[in-house]
Amino acid sequence: MLKSLLIANRGEIACRIIRTARAMGVRTIAVYSDADAKALHVRQADEAVHIGPSPARESYLVGDKIIAAALQTGAEAIHPGYGFLSENADFAQAVIDAGLIWVGPKPDSIRAMGLKDAAKERMIAAGVPVTPGYLGADQSPERLAAEADKIGYPVLIKAVAGGGGKGMRRVDDAADFADSLVSCQREAASSFGNTDVLIEKYILSPRHIEVQVFGDSHGNVVHLFERDCSLQRRHQKVIEEAPAPGMDEETRAAVCDAAVRAAQAVDYVGAGTIEFIADASEGLRADRIWFMEMNTRLQVEHPVTEEITGQDLVEWQLRVASGEPLPKRQDQLEIHGWAMEARLYAENPATGFLPSTGLIEHLQLPSFARLETGVEEGGEVSPFYDPMIAKIIVHEPSRSAAIEELWEATSDVEVWPVRTNAGFLARLCLDADFRSGTIDTGLIERRGEALTIPPAPQETHLREAAAALAARPVRGVWEGAIGLRLNAAPRAEARIVDDAGQVHVVSDLMIDDGPPQDEVISFYLGEGRGYRLAQPRGTASGAAADGAILSPMPGRIIAVDVAAGDAVIKGQKLVTLEAMKMEHSLVAPFDGTVETLAAVIGGQVSEGAVLVKITAIT
Ligand code: ADP
Repeated sequence: MLKSLLIANRGEIACRIIRTARAMGVRTIAVYSDADAKALHVRQADEAVHIGPSPARESYLVGDKIIAAALQTGAEAIHPGYGFLSENADFAQAVIDAGLIWVGPKPDSIRAMGLKDAAKERMIAAGVPVTPGYLGADQSPERLAAEADKIGYPVLIKAVAGGGGKGMRRVDDAADFADSLVSCQREAASSFGNTDVLIEKYILSPRHIEVQVFGDSHGNVVHLFERDCSLQRRHQKVIEEAPAPGMDEETRAAVCDAAVRAAQAVDYVGAGTIEFIADASEGLRADRIWFMEMNTRLQVEHPVTEEITGQDLVEWQLRVASGEPLPKRQDQLEIHGWAMEARLYAENPATGFLPSTGLIEHLQLPSFARLETGVEEGGEVSPFYDPMIAKIIVHEPSRSAAIEELWEATSDVEVWPVRTNAGFLARLCLDADFRSGTIDTGLIERRGEALTIPPAPQETHLREAAAALAARPVRGVWEGAIGLRLNAAPRAEARIVDDAGQVHVVSDLMIDDGPPQDEVISFYLGEGRGYRLAQPRGTASGAAADGAILSPMPGRIIAVDVAAGDAVIKGQKLVTLEAMKMEHSLVAPFDGTVETLAAVIGGQVSEGAVLVKITAIT
């Protein structure tokens, strides 16, 4: 068994790997960038090496620095986690050439699966069903268009070097083919430096089914059953589960056997995932599931497989990397119960899922679920990396119990001022089609605002907040609302504008002229919302929200009803913003004069932009 391990990653996956390594008595070495100097993974590891500035391309993506850190600390092996350098065959080779153990497949296996067309060719040779389509070397637009006709519309044009949902175009009509091809090639050239494409039949009612496989250096390959990752938003997974709903034994045997053949075809060692696409228009059927691609690393959603099989896949990885055989034979692996994972992200569903970065002042995660996280209260969501806060994993005897548990867990999340998708996840758990297992990759997009726009805050929450606020001797202004915005002046009522742009009048508050304080009072209102009352040092007049009307979300100005210098009265409409396909009117918080007017009709504004500034009449 190896004795020391460098983890070439950050966040939750670095913490996850450290946990198992430590339990196995393996010394752990973290690497970190400037932004991660105080990160959890750095503190959890036995040692940590600084590898450069915050941008990943200057730190986590610089293979030489990582290998140097491993040599300098005497690490025996490197675990790449997922993302970053995990599927970089050249890096894997460099690790091996430096005399270190690479916790992953052979560089040649990574290469074999790297390009979509070559991978599909290999799979066809291995007898693995692939999505019907064209893989040819002839890339002339005429030939590609003719092949698309032959396949039959709708078709999907895919960049052979594509990844992360990029470089794909759905085409419904032959008349649009040429334009879509050009735009796909343009994206492929700029993102992947390779304009080659393949063409696939576009699967209607597609479900994303993937199979966990594992190989060792003694020639053994097993599968650990399937996961269903059909709940996606823009091709990004949101909730994953294992096993797949509606999977019968015949179909499971067919898809899992195909996955094992796929892994054997590339001489696979370590943890891998074979992704399939299923046409679920008539349920899951063995003859309607096709190979899509292989991910040659540990997957984000591996915990659901761990839960249903009772295995620790990181332990398997470390044993296999040490040269041991797989811990279990195929006939020793079974499915127990149902597991689900939700990805909690620092993002704001109400603003088109824009990442929400900054200090996490308050963080409370459900204690009854399995949590994989790399951040903690007082930590920061940095703009440099993936804004994932945690993976919330539940395991129950049945699918319905798992959904219930996941709903409770996501409803329990309290995070702010950073915004999260917790409310969105909780609403998804209540979706009738999800609950009955009638899912496909388009479900989330079809639901639209029903999932993204939170309902108005509950009356009881508002009353509690108002009572709490009224009890404080407050001088100054309301500002920096989190999930809710307060635009109110001294001696005014508190107005809360929620994520949907609705204004709620909380209470008529008498605000004392107490001594200036430098204090922040925070309230959490449930459903991923809270707000904060800031009392700036000194007088209130300099504060940004002192009569400053901020844009509650990114959008376009469609009306401006005042001019600079105008006198306005409390409640008067100032500016109308169009965002999320809705109009939001912003009104004067108190009587005053328009001091500055920054809003222009037709102008695009970002969240928090100052649109109008009102000076109170004194
Ligand atoms: P990437 O490598 O960019 O992740 P994939 O080939 O894995 O691309 O496809 C990503 C997603 O696109 C899949 O999960 C599925 O939702 C959708 N998709 C891929 N191929 C097809 C297809 N032939 N028909 C319909 N949807 C598809």
